[in-house]
Amino acid sequence: MSTTEKTLTPKLVKKLWVAFILLVLLMGSSYIFITGYLTNKHNQAITQRVNANVAEHVIQEKFQDASPFLADGSVNKALFGDLMHDMMAVNRSIEVYLLNKAGEIQYSVVLEHNENEPAKHVSLAPINEFIRNDGATFVLGDDPLNPEEQKIFSAAPFNVDGKEGFIYIILAGKEFQLISDNLLGQYFTKLGVGATLLTMLFAALIGILSIWFLTKNLRLITQTVRKFQEGDLDIRIPNPEASDIEVFAHSFNEMADTIVDNMDKMKSVDTLRRELIANVSHDLRTPLAILKGYVETLQIKRDSLSEEQKQEYLRITHDNIDKLSNLINQLFDYSKLEAEQVTPIKEPFSITELSHDLIAKFKVLAAQKSITLNLDNPEANCMVFADVSLVERALQNLIENAIKYTEKGGKVTLSLLKKGKNIEINITDTGTGIPVNEQPFIFDRYKQVDKSAKKQGYGLGLAIVKKIMDLHDTTITVLSKPKEGSSFIFNLPAYQL
Ligand code: ADP
Repeated sequence: MSTTEKTLTPKLVKKLWVAFILLVLLMGSSYIFITGYLTNKHNQAITQRVNANVAEHVIQEKFQDASPFLADGSVNKALFGDLMHDMMAVNRSIEVYLLNKAGEIQYSVVLEHNENEPAKHVSLAPINEFIRNDGATFVLGDDPLNPEEQKIFSAAPFNVDGKEGFIYIILAGKEFQLISDNLLGQYFTKLGVGATLLTMLFAALIGILSIWFLTKNLRLITQTVRKFQEGDLDIRIPNPEASDIEVFAHSFNEMADTIVDNMDKMKSVDTLRRELIANVSHDLRTPLAILKGYVETLQIKRDSLSEEQKQEYLRITHDNIDKLSNLINQLFDYSKLEAEQVTPIKEPFSITELSHDLIAKFKVLAAQKSITLNLDNPEANCMVFADVSLVERALQNLIENAIKYTEKGGKVTLSLLKKGKNIEINITDTGTGIPVNEQPFIFDRYKQVDKSAKKQGYGLGLAIVKKIMDLHDTTITVLSKPKEGSSFIFNLPAYQL
């Protein structure tokens, strides 16, 4: 399967292309629009600035020789006709208005009228601003022929024969507008076609390059993920910090580590489980075979056996049944603890009392081996905060072991000592001890230091103790010297009354 080359779907590439072209077109058209708008404004500003003095000029030139008003107060149309004639010779696009002080149009000289009724009044605010700044600022005023539009203008005040008003000249009249729109249209068409062609060309070039760059890391990641999926569990995304999608690259690498870790754990759990099953079957078989043998003998030789022999056989049978039930109980406890089905119910209780009870319980067993079993508890009463039945189970296993691995005449001591906020619990024996190299493994299930037939154990006792310690967030340590004895020490939080 040559899947490695095709790392990106055509859909993704198509999407990237569409997004890219849309982006370039949007940018291109925004650029054209903004350029056109600003160019237009720029032209208007220049035209206004260049022609700023036109109105002033009209007043100085024309109103010196003749008054704009006749003796009867009406407008001197002849003067304005003359004025119009002069102006049109220079610029056909202007429109001249005579305004009174209030901005009302007294007379207008325009090349051609609109179909709309011309306005009778123009706003004085832009005119005043223009005059105040001597025409140095770009300002738009009302266009009487198109009241909804604003145009560039020149304006100047006059005061003749007691009459005050303004000469108001629209600089970009209708004709100017027509020419300007036409030119702008052509300019836009040219700019549009040119820009579109150039945009397409650059879009294609930059698009290919940027899609290649953008997807470079993505291709690497896809290839890595695919190789991992195909079974190369060691593969990771190299240099995740340098990746464009750093978080994803890191997450993938961490996820791959977790998967590999979990697989390793599952493998080792699986191996241990197989070992446990093999060992348990072996341990179950031995007492069962013994049981079978003695029961059969009792059945066959019932008449020929003496009463003493029968009693002995029954005792052995009984012992082996005990062993079997002991093993099954331990297995049951361990599997429950391992499957995390046990939740400790912590409460305050007296560890002193519990220790007294356990000592009393094991006194008989110890006495059978002539072992001295003592409780060393200098404090009157030690209270701890823990799960009483789990702690009892742990102590029971530890005392059982201490008695089991101590020779006749030895000594087993359970001591309780207050240390700061904890109670230290120490089970010391004068038994066989544990070789140093074996000590780290004794808490693993099914690890027996001495596999000799003499030792009666299944290797589950300490594994159960260890699980109980875990549930109490504490640890157990072993101090042991072969032939001298062992001490198992752990701490439980003291409970203050
Ligand atoms: P077992 O059922 O075999 O006793 P444990 O898990 O209780 O299993 O103990 C694991 C091994 O640790 C034992 O087989 C023994 O070799 C060693 N061990 C435990 N306690 C003692 C002790 N008090 N003295 C010497 N050896 C011990």
